Amino acid sequence: MDIVSSLPDFVGTKKRGQPAWQESIKNAIRDPVELCRALDLPSATTASATGAAGQFTVFVPREFLTKMKRGDPHDPLLRQVLPTFAELDSRPDFSADPVGDQSAMLLPGLLQKYEQRVLLVTTGACAVHCRYCFRRHFPYSQTPPDTRLWTQAVERIAADSSIREVLLSGGDPLTVRDELLAQLVRQLSHISHLRRLRLHTRLPIVIPQRVTNELVAWLRGTRLTPVVVVHANHPAELCQEVITSLGRLIDHGIPVLNQAVLLRGVNDDVDTLARLCERLVDARVMPYYLHQLDRVAGAAHFEVDVQRGQQLIEQLRQRLPGYAVPRYVVEMPGADSKTLLAG
Ligand SMILES: *Cc1c(COP(=O)(O)O)cnc(C)c1O
Ligand code: SF4
Repeated sequence: MDIVSSLPDFVGTKKRGQPAWQESIKNAIRDPVELCRALDLPSATTASATGAAGQFTVFVPREFLTKMKRGDPHDPLLRQVLPTFAELDSRPDFSADPVGDQSAMLLPGLLQKYEQRVLLVTTGACAVHCRYCFRRHFPYSQTPPDTRLWTQAVERIAADSSIREVLLSGGDPLTVRDELLAQLVRQLSHISHLRRLRLHTRLPIVIPQRVTNELVAWLRGTRLTPVVVVHANHPAELCQEVITSLGRLIDHGIPVLNQAVLLRGVNDDVDTLARLCERLVDARVMPYYLHQLDRVAGAAHFEVDVQRGQQLIEQLRQRLPGYAVPRYVVEMPGADSKTLLAG
């Protein structure tokens, strides 16, 4: 994924007065050596990171880096973004398209797997590259936001009155600037059978300044009911700035949910998951899903057994209020909803 090639589209023409989050994307770390140097990591870690970065480039905003421990190659936030030799191991049951996205494609960039809901790949760009991501092999990860594809998608959605909800996903839709997103949402709001607009984004977690006044304005200003689903996997991701930013959305009446991925060495123990869920509900964010890892090539070292995951959910149930326990789900290609494993 080459974020540089898509920069002009979301940076826009204004050079002065550019929002802080765009600066942050521009200044993100893209080099494994620089990442390792910034954290004082041992040379073996640097060698492994450099050797494996080719498949899917490094991309880490500096705000996210500040939450990691220096000198600790096993830091749970670092593990999510640092390439390792383990990514190069090939496993026959881990593939490039584990969730059947290619066959769910209605149009380029528009997917439908479930009733009532369509997913628009608003852009291929992300503000962080997560090593476990099932989109790491996707051809559209190269594609900058293409407003012509949006127009075709809007026409298709308008022609199908069974569709109630549009999910803006990606990539990360919030790498696109607010004026463009506001335009898209205005077009969607004219489709009378649409009721809800959902955003799937990790941006407020990695660059909390992304929750701008303009963002709140277009999300609140639409007739469509907004729902924001963020993605945090570890309690250390939820620093005070992130909590304040999410709180601004919630104060404006926008429901915020979290989805996490169960990841070996990141959050596969009950204490970490319990702290994550508690910190979320204390911030008024509802834990929505805990995803079983999609079996994407290069991510096998992150996998946790389903049985172990079910055990963890059982332990969470004993500790936490019912509303703080996420649904543990897996995505099966061809299924008509996410498949519940526990919760
Ligand atoms: C996960 C997903 C959704 C949303 O599913 P919910 O269970 O409603 O959160 C919608 N479309 C696609 C293609 C998805 O992968
Ligand atoms: S998990 Fe989300 S933010 Fe991370 S690389 Fe994948 S799509 Fe981008």
